Amino acid sequence: MRSCRDITGLMSQGLDKKLSLGERLAIGLHVMMCSGCRNFQSQSQFIRIAAHCYTEQLQKRLDEKS
Ligand SMILES: [Zn+2]
Repeated sequence: MRSCRDITGLMSQGLDKKLSLGERLAIGLHVMMCSGCRNFQSQSQFIRIAAHCYTEQLQKRLDEKS
């Protein structure tokens, strides 16, 4: 079981890079049991969605170039 610090760290990393399946599973399992990290996750939901949209736009631009 990973610590809350690990999990919130992974969530933050997920804003910048794609997490592995194992990392995403660790987050999913942890937030099922930990309300503190669940709160952290919902608070960063907006940022995550915004970051996801930004990444998609960036990817589209890269795809157009190649
Ligand atoms: Zn936690």
